[in-house]
Amino acid sequence: MSSFDLVKSFDAVVVGSGIAGLTAALDLAPLRVAVLCKGALGDGSTPHAQGGIAAAVGSGDGPTRHAADTLEVGAGLNDAAAVAVLTGEGPARVADLSARGVAFDVAEDGRPRLGREAGHTARRVLHAGGDATGAEISRALAALALASPHIEVMEHAFAVDLVVDGGRVLGLTARVGDAGGVLLAAPAVVLATGGVGRLYANTTNPPEVTGDGLAMAARAGARLADTEFVQFHPTALASGRDPMSLITEALRGEGAVLVDEEGQRFMVGVHPGAELAPRDVVARAIWELSSRGGGAFLDATGAVGAVFPDRFPTVFRLCLEDGIDPRVGPIPVAPAAHYHMGGIATDLHGRSSLPGLWAVGEAARTGVHGANRLASNSLLEGAVFGRRAGLDITRIAPARPGEAAVSSVAEPPGPEPDPQPDLVANLRDLMWEKVGLSRDHDGLVDALEEMDRLEEKLGPGVSAVANMVSTARIIASAALVRAESRGGHYRADHPGTEEAWRRPVLVNR
Ligand SMILES: Cc1cc2nc3c(=O)[nH]c(=O)nc-3n(C[C@H](O)[C@H](O)[C@H](O)COP(=O)(O)OP(=O)(O)OC[C@H]3O[C@@H](n4cnc5c(N)ncnc54)[C@H](O)[C@@H]3O)c2cc1C
Repeated sequence: MSSFDLVKSFDAVVVGSGIAGLTAALDLAPLRVAVLCKGALGDGSTPHAQGGIAAAVGSGDGPTRHAADTLEVGAGLNDAAAVAVLTGEGPARVADLSARGVAFDVAEDGRPRLGREAGHTARRVLHAGGDATGAEISRALAALALASPHIEVMEHAFAVDLVVDGGRVLGLTARVGDAGGVLLAAPAVVLATGGVGRLYANTTNPPEVTGDGLAMAARAGARLADTEFVQFHPTALASGRDPMSLITEALRGEGAVLVDEEGQRFMVGVHPGAELAPRDVVARAIWELSSRGGGAFLDATGAVGAVFPDRFPTVFRLCLEDGIDPRVGPIPVAPAAHYHMGGIATDLHGRSSLPGLWAVGEAARTGVHGANRLASNSLLEGAVFGRRAGLDITRIAPARPGEAAVSSVAEPPGPEPDPQPDLVANLRDLMWEKVGLSRDHDGLVDALEEMDRLEEKLGPGVSAVANMVSTARIIASAALVRAESRGGHYRADHPGTEEAWRRPVLVNR
C-alpha cells in the first residue's frame, strides 16, 4: 500500500517551465509528459530575460563567428563540440520560436532587428518588445504547452527527489498543491530547474531559482561540473530591491557608459572593450570601485536619451518605479549573481551520467559556456538543448516502469517543511561575502564551516532551503578546489589563470 496521496505515470516528466523545460516538453510529442513548476506556468528566470537571444542570422555573420566569440569569452573551458551545436542550430531554433508564436522585433525590411552585447563581434541578438524578450518567449511557449494534449501541467508543484533503482531513474516524488505527496513514475526525467541566483544576497533571479535540480541530481549520484562558475551581472539596479532589477547590457551595446560619482568613465584603461568587456571584468571593476567606497552609474543620457522609453520600456519602467529617470540622469548600478555556467553534466543530447536523467537549460552543464557565458547565449542554450533532449527521449521512447514497482522503492516526500527565512538570509549573505565575486582559500573554508552549522539547523525533510545549502556547499567546494582565476571564478589568492587548470572540477565523478 503506497503512502503517496497520488501516483501517476508518464513517458517523461519535465521539471521546470522556462524556455528549456517547455521546449523539451513540446518536442517530446507525442509522448505523454508532465511539466512541473514551483509557481505558475512560465515562472523562473525566462520571463525576466531582457536583452534577447543570440543567433547568427545577420548578414555577414555566421555560426563559426558566433562560436569563436563564445569560445573567447569561455576562457578555455568550453566544450567545442557543444559550442558548434549551439551556434550551428541557433538560427533554426530561433525560427522555431517564431513559428511557435514569438513576435521578435523586426526592422522596416521585415528582417529581425539585431542588437549587440558584450563579447559579440557582430549584431546578433534578437529581441522582442524591445527589452521584454523573455516575457514574450514565455508567453508563447506557455500558451502552446497549455494547448498541447500530450502535456499535463502541474503548477505549484515542488519536485522533491528522483526515484532511482538499480542505477536508473524511474520517476520522481513531489509535493503538488492540494494533492500532497505525489509519485510520478516515468522512465525519463528532464531537469530544467534553472540556475542558483537565490543562493546570493544580491541577485537578479526570481525566488523560485534555488538550485533544486543540482541538489536533487547530486543526491541521486549524477555528475555535476563547472559549478564554481557563477556569472555576476555588472549592472543591476542598486535600489535595494530583491531581486534586483536588471539593467540590460544592450544599453552598453547602444553606447551607454559606466561612470563613477564624479562622472568619469572608469572602464577605459581597464580593458580594451571598455564598457563592453566581458561581464566578469566589468563586474569586478565595479566591485573594486565600491570596495573603495565609490559608487557606479550607467549613463545612457547621451547614447539613448529621449528614446529610452521606446527602446528599453522594461528598464525604463523599473527605473521610474525607483524614482530614476534614465533619459536625464545616470542609473545607480551594482553587480548581482545572475547566471550559473555549471550544473548537471550532460552530453550533446542532454543526457546526464545517470540513465533516465536528462538536464537542460541553466541547470545543465553542456559545456557551451565554459568559465563564462557570452551574453544572450543562455536562452539559446535552452532552445537548442531543450529540443535535443526532447527528440532524444522520443527516439528512445523507453518503456514506462510499473507504478507498483516504483512505489515500492520511492520515499514519500512528507509534509511541507518550514521555509526557515533566517537561515536562508544567513546563507545568502555568506555566499555573497565569501563565495561571490572575489574568493580566497580562507574565506571559502570559513564558508564551508558555516554551512556545516547551517546544515545542523535545517528542519527535517527535503525542502528548497535544504537544497540551497547543498548546492551552496557544492559551489563553495568547487571554488576551493580551483586554485586559479578563470572566467566567472576569481580567487584573490590565485589571480592568474593556470594552464594546468584547463579542466573541469567534477562532483560525483
Ligand atoms: C533578469 C534576467 C535577465 C536575463 N536576460 C537574459 C537575456 O537577455 N538573454 C539570455 O540569453 N539570458 C538571459 N538571462 C538568463 C536566462 O533568462 C536564463 O538562463 C534562462 O531563462 C533559464 O531558463 P531555464 O528554462 O533553464 O530555467 P528558468 O527559466 O529559470 O525556469 C526554471 C523552472 O524550474 C522550476 N523549478 C525549479 N526548481 C523546481 C522544483 N524543485 N520543483 C518544480 N519546479 C522547479 C521553476 O519553477 C521554473 O519553472 C536573464 C536572467 C535574468 C534573471
